[in-house]
Amino acid sequence: MAIQFPVPLSTIQLHEKWVADFIAQLGKSCTLFYPFLMVSCPNCIGGFQYLTGGPYPFTTGSPCPYCNGTNHIQTEPNPDVITMLIYDDPRDFILYGEFKVAIPAGAIQTRGLMSDLNKVQRCNRMVRNSIDGIQTMSYTKAGEATPMGFRQTEEFVQSWTRGAP
Ligand SMILES: [Zn+2]
Repeated sequence: MAIQFPVPLSTIQLHEKWVADFIAQLGKSCTLFYPFLMVSCPNCIGGFQYLTGGPYPFTTGSPCPYCNGTNHIQTEPNPDVITMLIYDDPRDFILYGEFKVAIPAGAIQTRGLMSDLNKVQRCNRMVRNSIDGIQTMSYTKAGEATPMGFRQTEEFVQSWTRGAP
């Protein structure tokens, strides 16, 4: 939402620094997981011909043992760990824009730095890392990330619901 009154640049910059410090110091470590990617099989040509150098040699004409003759394999991109503020209590949720959503049980909001927005947009699952390092709470995104702040360039808010995709 655009602001309707002038705010000194120094105030904006102070606020943005405060937000960055706030997220860095009080934020929690969150692991972002990305959708599987389909890539060409490194072991065959077309599914039925061995690709020289591949890990599992086989006889031309039989299906490649690495991809079962499909010539494609799934790979999981490496997860990323970022720091975000987590709001567990719906009373703390930041209501933005014109949206008034029904909030499902267990839903959370996170507030992150814009530099991490691309990762959050690409992920299909987030796990909040518990203090003891045992990852138990898995979330999927509810709606799109919304930029926040005076200039909407420094931070974003994302809503999440419990559960894996
Ligand atoms: Zn193959």
